[in-house]
Amino acid sequence: MNKDTIFQTLLCTTQNAYCENTEMMDFAPFPNNIISQEVTPYYCKCSDYLGDDKRLISNNYPELQKAIIDASELVHWRETYKGTDIGDYFMDRFGCYSIIGENAPFSSDALRVFMVYMPPRLYYPWHHHPAEEVYMVVSGSATFKKKDCPDEVLSEGQVAFHESNQPHAMETKDDPVLCLVAWHDNFQTPPVLTLNTKISVR
Ligand code: FE
Repeated sequence: MNKDTIFQTLLCTTQNAYCENTEMMDFAPFPNNIISQEVTPYYCKCSDYLGDDKRLISNNYPELQKAIIDASELVHWRETYKGTDIGDYFMDRFGCYSIIGENAPFSSDALRVFMVYMPPRLYYPWHHHPAEEVYMVVSGSATFKKKDCPDEVLSEGQVAFHESNQPHAMETKDDPVLCLVAWHDNFQTPPVLTLNTKISVR
């Protein structure tokens, strides 16, 4: 498969999964003004954890899971928490790339869509951002935590909504998890760790 086919398949499978889910569509409609753009590939170790994960199985979204993995060598993996005190163990294992957004194969002025992957037994500490956000589980399961709410274990097709600047965290147990994540506003402010102690030096 060439790059264009891989990315078009990624967009189609993302759109199908998103549009089938009424909670995703209630959060924000899938945009009809999506533009293809060049992406600069950037590798992170987490890409290997995703590619090698034999336990990642999706019953409802197998095409989307395959498309996300097939695109993994062509995309720009994000290092959202580089320079924080989160540590190399997390940085090597936590996977995220943009499907629609900056440094992504597609852009839209109305929506950002990311993939997030976590192997088993990983804790994603408390973080927050001004963008309202929704997670949809594509494969596996995880415990979703958000401030002032009980923990929820979510699996395929289930969603978690995070209000603007509401701290949230995630944890995988025996299963890995693969999610689609959407933002519909406040695109320019990245997530920060709620309890980060390290002051970044620029
Ligand atoms: Fe978030």
